[in-house]
Amino acid sequence: MNDPLPPLRAVIAAHDLNAKKSLGQNFLFDLNLTRRIARAAGAEDGGTFYEVGPGPGGLTRALLAEGADKVIAVERDRRCLPALDEIAEAYRGRLDVLSGDAMTMDEAELLPRGARIAANLPYNVGTALLIKWLTAPQWPPVWASATLMFQREVAERLVAKPGSEQYGRISVLAQWRCTAKILFDVNRNAFVPPPSVTSSIVRLEPRPEPLAPARLEDLKRITAAAFGQRRKMLRQSLKSLAPDAEARILAAGLDPTARPEDLRIQDFALLSRAFFR
Ligand code: SAM
Repeated sequence: MNDPLPPLRAVIAAHDLNAKKSLGQNFLFDLNLTRRIARAAGAEDGGTFYEVGPGPGGLTRALLAEGADKVIAVERDRRCLPALDEIAEAYRGRLDVLSGDAMTMDEAELLPRGARIAANLPYNVGTALLIKWLTAPQWPPVWASATLMFQREVAERLVAKPGSEQYGRISVLAQWRCTAKILFDVNRNAFVPPPSVTSSIVRLEPRPEPLAPARLEDLKRITAAAFGQRRKMLRQSLKSLAPDAEARILAAGLDPTARPEDLRIQDFALLSRAFFR
């Protein structure tokens, strides 16, 4: 359907929403782009969407116009609430806005099962939020997919494969529990104000079962120790976890002289079992 609301530039001017760096505010004004992101998130299929940081509402409007039945949005900046109220008015009953910090929200309580996450995340909390979602106690989580804007460099780390420079702890945690894919890049000039780097839209889908059996806490410890000293061989970097690290690495069927970027996600799961069980 057509978006019934005034252009975003007019909304921003009417509500005096100058972007604040401290809140990671880089707004999208181009409704063609926000509609493309909404379609990538699957808005045309209807259902409930969870948006973090709607700001003046560019992506929110796109999700609703493309067909989302419901958008639940959490915004920290109270200055944006009047603009979001106007959207709620235009799309009666389809937008719920919560004023608060997404880091403290309990998605399992807030969202119906199968809800999809779609967000142009604030750069300063984007990674922390994703880690919070990836390390939820219950798996599979309540959300069915997450279509998220990240800095290109962060997106590359999420999808990185073993052997690459970008492969690290967040690649392992993300791909252990989810499939991760970069869908497309977004030029920095699409944002107001433009950030210093290119951004990418990433899609994460929870795996019904993690890629290999391991306890989350053990995997977090192993990857922290291994990638904390990524230039060192495992027999050295994992010594802090157990004095007989070399024997445990061998017991897991792995090479103690390997470096963390050589290991597959399954190998980290094997290591976590060899060290903590
Ligand atoms: N969705 C809008 C768009 O695409 O134009 C704005 C995106 S802007 C990159 C990030 C938004 O997240 C801002 O509106 C900011 O106020 C909000 N925000 C920042 N930290 C937040 C937090 N902890 N919880 C909820 N919203 C937050």
